[in-house]
Parts: sequence; C-alpha cells; structure tokens
Amino acid sequence: KNVKKYFPIKGGVLKRTIGHVKAVDDVSFSINKGETLGIVGESGSGKSTLGRVMLRLLDPTEGSIHFNGIDISHLKRREIRPHRRDMQIVFQDPFASLNSKMSVAELVEEPLLVQTKLTKSERRAKAIEMIEQVGLRAKDRLKYPHEFSGGQRQRISIARALITRPKFVICDEPVSALDVSIQAQVLNLMKDLQEEFNLTYLFIAHDLSVVKHISDRIAVMYLGRIVEITNKKDLYEEPLHPYSQALLASIPIIDTGEATKAKKEKITLTGDIPSPANPPSGCSFRTRCPFAHERCKVERPELIEKEKGHFVACHLYDK
Ligand code: SF4
Ligand code: MG
Repeated sequence: KNVKKYFPIKGGVLKRTIGHVKAVDDVSFSINKGETLGIVGESGSGKSTLGRVMLRLLDPTEGSIHFNGIDISHLKRREIRPHRRDMQIVFQDPFASLNSKMSVAELVEEPLLVQTKLTKSERRAKAIEMIEQVGLRAKDRLKYPHEFSGGQRQRISIARALITRPKFVICDEPVSALDVSIQAQVLNLMKDLQEEFNLTYLFIAHDLSVVKHISDRIAVMYLGRIVEITNKKDLYEEPLHPYSQALLASIPIIDTGEATKAKKEKITLTGDIPSPANPPSGCSFRTRCPFAHERCKVERPELIEKEKGHFVACHLYDK
C-alpha cells in the first residue's frame, strides 16, 4: 500500500544528500493466492527494487507491505526470519547468484540449514528430491555450477528457492539471460512447479512476450509507478495506457485475426526512459507520449478503475 523506495543521491565535498532516485514512487496493488502477477517495464522502471522491497530485502521509504494478513513492513530482521521461508526470490543471472565453490547439493540444501532444524542426512535427502523435481539428475548432485548450462543453472536456483516450500516466489527476470530456445522449458517448469507446490508468483520481465504465458494479471510499470494493471486478456487485447500500447506494439505477436489496438495505432517508443532522479513533471511518460497535452505537464494522473478490475493512470481516461 502506497509503497515508496527512494535512494538518496550524495554530492559535493560534504557528501550531503542532494536529491533522490525515486525507484518506486507510490505503488499499491495486491496479489491473490495462487495467481501469477506479471510486472513489466523497461530497465530502470523500478521492478526489481519493488520486488526486493516486498520481500524486505530492502526497507521501504514509505508505505506498508502485507503478507498473509501480516504487516511485515516494520518487522525487525529477527522478527522477519520466520516469514523468510515463505517468501523466496529467483534472480535473473543464475551464474552471479550461485556460489561457484558449492556443489549443487550444497547449494540446494543451504536454505534448510538456515531455516530448519533438519539433520544433515534429512537435508541431503530433501535436496536430492528437489534436484530431481526441477529436472536435473540426482547423480549430478556433486557437480559445481560451472559444469552446467545456463538453463540448468537456473533450475538449480529454482530448486534452492523452493526447498523451504515457500508460498510466495518473486521471479526477477528468471529467463532473460537464457537462450530463447531454453526460455520456454524453464517457463514450463515454473508453471508445473506452481501447480505442484501451490505457489503464488510475482513474475518480473522487461517485455510483454515472456509474461504472456505465465501471468494471470499484469501490471505495467514506468518510472517507479504502475501505469496500468488488469487481467492478461484485457491487457493484450485492449491496452489502455499509451505506454502499454507501445510495449505491445514492439513485440511480435502471432495475429489471430483481431488486430490489437496497439497494432492499429502503431505507437512506437522513441528515446530512453528518463532518469528516476529527475522525472518529468506531471505524467512521467509525457516526454515519449504521442497523446501528451497541456494537462499532462502539470497534473500527475492517478490510477483509476476504467472498467471492472482494469486500472489505468492516464488523463485520456479521467476526464
Ligand atoms: Fe500520455 Fe498524458 Fe496519458 Fe501521460 S497522461 S500517458 S502524457 S496522454
Ligand atoms: Mg531488474
């Protein structure tokens, strides 16, 4: 609820705070049990920061985070520990996030060492079971991460995330570093595991092609704010926000006859995302928006419910 994460910018000889990077700037949403919420936006839109704040890997500057009805936003490190095993994260780069000196079995069982009182042999047995569940071979358990391909390494990360049987998993661009041919395999695995373990996912991606298959609802982020949030069907068939339309127009979609609104209007994104240290006044998308008008310069659009469950933040819809 109303989550903000601002990072101070230090400057001058005294290294005083001279401004803030507003990485997440007043974001509110909920995720239902068992669903997958996709979060999409270009790099620099604040998606990863939002994910880390939700798990309290970073502290929010303002706002509150509720997990299973409990406000976890102000819990101390020690108080948050019991909730840790319920909330996990899979990172984008499995090479950077896996300790290269640990074997697969050690990597997968490590969270159990921290989170449970299981014995060494119990931990090892669970790890081997999980290694097989993510499609790796038990006999490879003593190998090291560099002996595996990118896709296999991401399977190791997934096994590590799921070994404590979490309820909620944040997937931070888990397939972005993988070859396209491998992406689908890992996405299918994640879908299967979601069903098997009753998982709720927050799935972060930088374009709309990856989240299409896995998401139930999708939130589109731009410069630290959610500009549109709705179910998958509405977003792909009837995107309302000009930024969503541009994102959709930029990915190849197999045409099923009905041309999407984005295709009809052919909005193309030009230029880069502005710096979150110095966002434009009013609507932060206005410097790249073909529909920008006077009001967009001075007034920031708030998320409004245009149709049931379909929220958009744009002055084209809040007259
Ligand atoms: Fe474009 Fe204005 Fe809508 Fe922002 S509020 S997306 S600038 S039309
Ligand atoms: Mg990121």
